[in-house]
Amino acid sequence: MMKKRIFVPENFNSDNATEVSDLYKSLESAQINENKEDLREWILKWSELESVLAEVSSRRYVAMTMNTKDEKAASDYASFIENIDPIMNEYGDLLRKKMMAHPSVSDLESEFGIWFKSVRIALDLFKTENIPLETAVHQEVQAYQKITGAMSVDYEGKTYTLPQMAPFLESPNRNLRQKTWELTSERRLLDKESLDLSFDKLFKLRMQISKNTGSSDYLDYIFKTKGRFDYTPKDCRDFHSSIEKIILPALREIYKKRKEDLGVSTLRPWDLQCDPKSLKPLKPFENGKDLIQKCNLFFKKLHPKTAEWFQIMVDQNLIDPDSRLGKAPGGYQIGFDESRLPFIFMNAAGTDRDMYTLFHEGGHSFHQFAMADQPIIAYRDIPSEFAEVASMSMELIATSDLSAFYSKEDAKRSIFGQLEDVIWLFPWVASIDSFQHELYSRPNHTAEDRKNIWLSIMDRFDSGVDYSGYDDVKAYLWQKQLHLFEVPFYYIEYGIAQLGALQIWANFKKDPEKALDQLFKAESLGNSVSLPELFKQAGIRFNFSPSTIEPLIENVLENL
Ligand SMILES: [Zn+2]
Repeated sequence: MMKKRIFVPENFNSDNATEVSDLYKSLESAQINENKEDLREWILKWSELESVLAEVSSRRYVAMTMNTKDEKAASDYASFIENIDPIMNEYGDLLRKKMMAHPSVSDLESEFGIWFKSVRIALDLFKTENIPLETAVHQEVQAYQKITGAMSVDYEGKTYTLPQMAPFLESPNRNLRQKTWELTSERRLLDKESLDLSFDKLFKLRMQISKNTGSSDYLDYIFKTKGRFDYTPKDCRDFHSSIEKIILPALREIYKKRKEDLGVSTLRPWDLQCDPKSLKPLKPFENGKDLIQKCNLFFKKLHPKTAEWFQIMVDQNLIDPDSRLGKAPGGYQIGFDESRLPFIFMNAAGTDRDMYTLFHEGGHSFHQFAMADQPIIAYRDIPSEFAEVASMSMELIATSDLSAFYSKEDAKRSIFGQLEDVIWLFPWVASIDSFQHELYSRPNHTAEDRKNIWLSIMDRFDSGVDYSGYDDVKAYLWQKQLHLFEVPFYYIEYGIAQLGALQIWANFKKDPEKALDQLFKAESLGNSVSLPELFKQAGIRFNFSPSTIEPLIENVLENL
């Protein structure tokens, strides 16, 4: 896949700040003739340099997270961030300005127009007085992470982090679930005031940043910075209403069934993650090797391209599946920009969720392969509204054949859980997104107002879960969602993408090969066309109206 270099020398040393600066300097001082071919060549050189450096950075990040005890890996990554990143940022800004000032830039509009649009907005929104404010946001986010990272619970003589407490909610033992849920919730509430303060500080800083750019309000500002050119805040609010009218009743039905299966009189917040028939957790695979082998069997049969791509990942060790001591938590997929290869990092422990995680990250990986021929790095950076279609649709497509993992009975249980999660996601996304729409339209709201706004949203999207006796837990549930603190307004994307994924799944049921051909065709376009065009090429609609949503939810309910 590696493209032949046209600019960066083969013996280039990316650790040498002088060498890096020199390459950037030569781009900055280059005399680009007044024609689009010369400008395009200059852009491709710049993009190649960025791709080479991005790959170094990604590979070092991977090495560091694969073994957090490896001090050399940590210092290699840190040295890149300290020494090379600032050079990239500084010159990035200069080169963007140089490009936009070139007389031939308009001749490349049809090729690079989507990228130019975001560059113009970034240049337009850039204000020097915001630099210290952005730094302050960064520091406050770190302070927030310190608060949440320090949360732990003592249970039966052992200390657990909050993520480590989550598996207890899957236990068939209801008393144990309640006890561990209470411990976790009480621990969070201990910091409710400091989290409120942290939110206030971040909120004020962000409002000031937006004001400094001359934007009419925060929503206007954040939609521009996120490149949301194809939908408006009003579209989001309409989406919330559609979710309330169409999807929430489906979730209520699912929860009613869950309540009956569990044989309880009211469904409590600790009853949502366990098996509804109180069966033991599913066990789809033994270890990472087994997981990869079984996924490989599935992808071999699915489509010639998934067969080819997944085999490359297996042959080149591009998946690190197993949880082990010293490995960083979580899971992610990352692209290596010069070699155009994906990498999947996981902490699989043998659960049903882990199986879907590999399908999800597999979907992201196929996107990387599909768009490998996109010439500029900016076009290989996919908006999440579509990037998550690639991954979420693969989770749904996986349910078409789980025979490598499960008996018929177990497959049914697994699919039920998966579809329950799909439905659950929408009202939660709508709650988090509408909460932010409310907060940011009230610049002077107090912590007490915030609590009341949240409670009214909890009522609006009430799925029938009984919080009585736990009023404070309910009132501060929003504090669980790190996006509110770290990346405001980044959440509706999951709802939009899930809607796309459900459409891909519906297409797949009608004609598997055609649905996947269309999906990969759209993926091959990278970020070179608008979001609605990406959806269109994938054979799906970019639309959040009831007429799109209704048949999709019917399809899910039929499968339940
Ligand atoms: Zn994803």
